[in-house]
Amino acid sequence: MILEPLDKRNINWDSSCLEIRDCPFCGTENIDPSYIRPDRRPILKCSNCTSYYVSPAPSEDALNEFYSSYHETYFGGKTIIPSSDPRLKFIKKDMSHNRKSTYKVLDFGCGTGSFLYQAKKMGASVTGIELNSSAVSKCHKLGLDSIFLGGFDILRSLDEKYDLVVLNDVIEHPLNPAQLVTELCGLLCETGKILIWTPNGDAIDSDHQKITLRVDLEHMQYLTSGAVSALCHENNLSVWHYQQLGFPSSGNFITNATEGAWTSKLKGRLTALLRSLKLVGLVKPLLSRLGFANSTYSTRGNYNLFCVLCRNK
Ligand SMILES: [Zn+2]
Repeated sequence: MILEPLDKRNINWDSSCLEIRDCPFCGTENIDPSYIRPDRRPILKCSNCTSYYVSPAPSEDALNEFYSSYHETYFGGKTIIPSSDPRLKFIKKDMSHNRKSTYKVLDFGCGTGSFLYQAKKMGASVTGIELNSSAVSKCHKLGLDSIFLGGFDILRSLDEKYDLVVLNDVIEHPLNPAQLVTELCGLLCETGKILIWTPNGDAIDSDHQKITLRVDLEHMQYLTSGAVSALCHENNLSVWHYQQLGFPSSGNFITNATEGAWTSKLKGRLTALLRSLKLVGLVKPLLSRLGFANSTYSTRGNYNLFCVLCRNK
């Protein structure tokens, strides 16, 4: 099935830099694509672990070239993570169960540092690794000192052990996500955990619009519950937490078809109406009761997969 564009940012990959690959989570060879994305990349569904992935995919060099200007192009604005975000709630709970004086968090692909900033505010000792130099500068401006410019090379140079390693919107990007998880396992302390937040591959089957495959065309694979099982089996890990939630961010959509756009429009109209009636004091509590307030993270939807993996005893 050929999928129509939904994202304003279609990508024209250099057709001379495409490479066939097997399932990036379990290594199974699959042949027939299920979909063709708007960037003309075929999407295969793994017959073994049910993950979806791109093949033939852009080569590592082509991806590095693409990512060299990634943050400037795609993340010009600040990403603000509300304190009610379920990932931060998880950290708070995990910290409270941790008997050590320091709770160490490593964020691989930390971007502009908004997640680490919140974790630091909660008392964690934070380290970040990020490929993009301007994103690293933004981290430093937030007062985050321990941020390294690089990728796998930096991971291999670390000699610390961490209580939590974070992959926020990362595992869908590299060509070798299973190798990344294996390398991260080597950086976990005995009770250490890996937190993964990524577009949910299991949502693709039930979504008749196939939104996941029509936006963010730099994504090279989509994690599913079966692929999580494969990663756990390979690395002697167990699932600590597993949750599907949320909606795609609609900022880059050609059409505003998502629930996020709908709620923000309705929120604007409600606020204007209450202001005109001089009922400003009612605005926040009312929006909060309707589930629109910024301080409340919606757990509806199933666009994202939020899972935490821990080492087997
Ligand atoms: Zn697979």
